[in-house]
Amino acid sequence: DKSTGRPTKKKVVAVVGGGLVGALNACFFAKRGFNVEVFESREDIRQAKVVKGRSINLALSHRGRQALKHVGLEEKIVSQGIPMHARMIHSPSGKQSPIPYGKKGQVIFAPSEAETYPNTKLNFEHKLHDWTAETGLMTFEQIKADLIVGCDGAFSAIRKQFLRRSRFNYSQTYIPHGYMELTMPPINGQFAMKPNYLHIWPRNTFMMIALPNLDKTFTCTLFMPFEEFEKITTGDEVIEFFQKYFPDTIPLIGSDALRRDYFRLPAQAMVSVKCSPYHINDKCVLMGDAAHAVVPFYGQGMNAGFEDCIVFDEIMEQFNEDFSSVLPEYTRVRVPDDHAIADLAMYNYIEMRAHVNSKWFLFRKHVDNILHFIMPRTIIPLYTMVTFTRTRYHEAVERWHWQDKVRHLSIFLFPAGGHFTPLNISHSERHCLRFTEGNSKTSAVGFHN
Ligand code: FAD
Repeated sequence: DKSTGRPTKKKVVAVVGGGLVGALNACFFAKRGFNVEVFESREDIRQAKVVKGRSINLALSHRGRQALKHVGLEEKIVSQGIPMHARMIHSPSGKQSPIPYGKKGQVIFAPSEAETYPNTKLNFEHKLHDWTAETGLMTFEQIKADLIVGCDGAFSAIRKQFLRRSRFNYSQTYIPHGYMELTMPPINGQFAMKPNYLHIWPRNTFMMIALPNLDKTFTCTLFMPFEEFEKITTGDEVIEFFQKYFPDTIPLIGSDALRRDYFRLPAQAMVSVKCSPYHINDKCVLMGDAAHAVVPFYGQGMNAGFEDCIVFDEIMEQFNEDFSSVLPEYTRVRVPDDHAIADLAMYNYIEMRAHVNSKWFLFRKHVDNILHFIMPRTIIPLYTMVTFTRTRYHEAVERWHWQDKVRHLSIFLFPAGGHFTPLNISHSERHCLRFTEGNSKTSAVGFHN
């Protein structure tokens, strides 16, 4: 196009995977005028009679919202969500204590949004089997595209081609925990617990969380080592287990439902995937879980994937949609950030499990909040930077390390209650620190808490 200096459109962009990130990405490319084809292996859930698989119940925060805003979807999605203002911690005795934390919303997002663009075609029941980096040929049947965007999730078929290539770095780690979803129904048509909270039952090696849904149910997710899941083999053992650790939830979920639902599906595994580069020549790029599956303990997997789309779009603007410059730049800019959030999520895996109910953890949060109040522009809690801003993930981590030094200095200068000193970390917490330090996944984060 001579008037804009951009290469003429009509190029074909194939988005493989019509999940959350693929659907949003299709909107971004369609908005730029490309001919977009989305290939999704599953059937169209809008027409399906039975929808199998996990529920979509996710916390959407600032990064994800910014990306949605860019394609005009923010209001539509956010208006369907339930804001969560605080965490509600449930103690083993059933006592509830809120820890405020800002605003969050949930999101339900379906690929149908992409179909509002006439230059977008959705192909369901199209499973990619293979593709060739040199020519862009893809085998569902044989289809050719100018750019292939791999949004096909943690076990990406697109990424398999990358693995065959020289100088492609790849690592994956399964954590020892699995997760299981249980539903807490409404009581008399109302939410069974306070809805505007992320409910957490921290129990050291395992924990449960519950998020509200629009139909007034809660989805409770139990995270626990696989070996613990496997120890429970009968309905009575389920009840015994819940009696011991989550007694307040038995009447709310219902004892019959618990006995039944615990055995409905096996516990699901969680994997953390890091790789680099994210592109092959000017032909293919990975985004979302295909590029960086993260463990779900920072509530950032989808948000990071949505941010991938907006970052890519920003680079498209900067480099005039020239794929041969855009793709390497995307890898250069995005890899350190996605690796940082993968590390942070792994770090939070430890923190949420063990620290959320420890005095030392609460005290540190308290000091952070005071410092933030005194110096709002200098000290910003890590969680705030990650969840409520678009500060680059890796910069948030660097800043966190720096702030940690300030915090330690302030604790040293103004010891608020002599018994709370860094040396008073309990034995179990020290054990946990060692455990984390020994875990190479978190080494980039460091552990100066
Ligand atoms: P997916 O959602 O996995 O979509 C990939 C799509 O590709 C699927 O539709 C699949 O059918 C299709 N596909 C796969 N292979 C092929 C093929 N060969 N050919 C064609 N199509 C294919 N994130 C948050 O931001 N907030 C949260 O609160 C949150 N909570 C979570 C809780 C749990 C328990 C888990 C497990 C994850 C959570 N996440 C959360 C992470 C979030 O679910 C993912 O990051 C997000 O779904 C990634 O989207 P995606 O589109 O990249 O991949």
